[in-house]
Amino acid sequence: MADTVSPFNPPQRTLMGPGPSDVSPRVLEALGRPTIGHLDPRFVEMMEEVKGLLQYAFMTENALTMPVSAPGSAGMETCFANLVEPGDKVIVCQNGVFGGRMRENVVRCGGEVVMVEDEWGTVVNPHKVEEALEANPDAKLLAFVHAETSTGAQSDAATLCRLAREHQCLTIVDTVTSLGGTPVKVDEWGADAVYSGTQKCLSCVPGLSPVTFSDRALEVVKNRKTPVQSWFLDLNLVLGYWGSGAQRTYHHTAPVNSLYALHEALRILQEEGLEASWARHELNHQALKAGLEAMGIGFVVKEGDRLPQLNAVTVPEGVDEAAVRKALLEGFNLEIGAGLGALAGRVWRIGLMGHASNRRNVLFCLAALETVLTGMKAPIRKGVAVDAAMAVYS
Ligand SMILES: *Cc1c(COP(=O)(O)O)cnc(C)c1O
Repeated sequence: MADTVSPFNPPQRTLMGPGPSDVSPRVLEALGRPTIGHLDPRFVEMMEEVKGLLQYAFMTENALTMPVSAPGSAGMETCFANLVEPGDKVIVCQNGVFGGRMRENVVRCGGEVVMVEDEWGTVVNPHKVEEALEANPDAKLLAFVHAETSTGAQSDAATLCRLAREHQCLTIVDTVTSLGGTPVKVDEWGADAVYSGTQKCLSCVPGLSPVTFSDRALEVVKNRKTPVQSWFLDLNLVLGYWGSGAQRTYHHTAPVNSLYALHEALRILQEEGLEASWARHELNHQALKAGLEAMGIGFVVKEGDRLPQLNAVTVPEGVDEAAVRKALLEGFNLEIGAGLGALAGRVWRIGLMGHASNRRNVLFCLAALETVLTGMKAPIRKGVAVDAAMAVYS
């Protein structure tokens, strides 16, 4: 072991991948405030504000709306572990990486999975879902990903939730990448268990997972025949700390400073307003799209189904996609994402999430990408991307 280790000073990157996204300086400043006890009355007051702000972000009145003390994957697991009992039948929609993880969650909870699969890059097909619901009248849950970060496709959550309700099925909805960037209307959709993450369009530090449960879903959790297999994620226990009117007894030590950061990130969202935030994500997406298309770079997902905050685009012929990402990172301190699973090696994923969804980043990314691709003699049109993007802004 060396005697001295230098302080870790991370480089100043611009984060335009699939998350984490750039964190606002206001959020980083909140993170550094003095740690207090997780049962301190002042902290408990702040927890109530976090719950209220999350209700605003999720557009819900659900009393059970809170952040799980772990990343988005733990929010996912909270929904499945609490709602799925051994032998329960769950319809899982898969059109990318994250639907596959939902499937894995059901299996590990001892549930029986019925898969509804769609091509990567397309949305979840409601007709297939309806067929599956009709063929499986005993299904307890329908699970799907609203914003599939691995492909950039956004599914029609309102329709999928309505179909589930018509068939007496509860829903589990992944809104990790959508929350704050595109409309997530939990009450209007009638969704039952919805989870998200802090490091995508909320532009907060990674490591927390907001969740919200309808009263219907909470009843199911309270009336389980078997205990929740995970002690840490068992909502019946967690609610002793986070629940409304709870005595706030110790369950685990909350990540106090990260919760200051989430409080500030949600305040920023509220100041801007949900509608304004959605409109900003859409505008910057349109500008990036105009620039990329002018260059000759196309999208994976068809128009109308695209996520403005996650742009999956095809790598030009003959270009080594990993070399481009490396050159962007090393030469420009700019991070963009690689393709995952079926799309690995064929696409880039350019995020415009939260604080990072702004004009400066759009223009910077287009200029940097053009410079790197030109240096590699890639078949793109030069000198047109930034102008095409600016035309969208003016
Ligand atoms: C990022 C992401 C997750 C997982 O979140 P982590 O914070 O990385 O655990 C789950 N679902 C989707 C759609 C995501 O984009």
